[in-house]
Amino acid sequence: MLKGGCACGNVRFEIDSVRSLTHCHCTICRKLTGASFATYAHVEKSKFRWLGGQGTVRRYESAPGSFRAFCPKCGSLVPGQAPYLETISVPAGLIEGDPGVRPKLHVFASSRAQWWEITDDLPQYATWVTGHEPKPPAPRATTSRTKKRTKKKT
Ligand SMILES: [Zn+2]
Ligand SMILES: [Zn+2]
Repeated sequence: MLKGGCACGNVRFEIDSVRSLTHCHCTICRKLTGASFATYAHVEKSKFRWLGGQGTVRRYESAPGSFRAFCPKCGSLVPGQAPYLETISVPAGLIEGDPGVRPKLHVFASSRAQWWEITDDLPQYATWVTGHEPKPPAPRATTSRTKKRTKKKT
């Protein structure tokens, strides 16, 4: 059993086990953490329990339909679930103790910080892990529709 929480202790949770750890180099993760990349622990829903503070959690919509949860008191990113994943994404830095697994791969390696080299041998995905892309409306479809709409009827 692992415990974790935000910097101020308002948000607390416990985890039976972590399925995997992933490094994300996307721009949003880098900005929200202020770090070179974010590491997330993926936890099955049945293995995650809130211990406190979940009612106070606020959410930032980082992309349409995609929310990043954070503690309103200290600003720490806190666990949340992406609509396209079946697991809870736990910012790994919140976990106290050893999750027992080690990082498995890099996602959004194409948008990594220019000042950071990936020097390990873990698999790198340019964006999403194949098969785990978001399912909601593809941004590209929206763009082409907007383009069509701005064009006057011919
Ligand atoms: Zn907090
Ligand atoms: Zn990210």
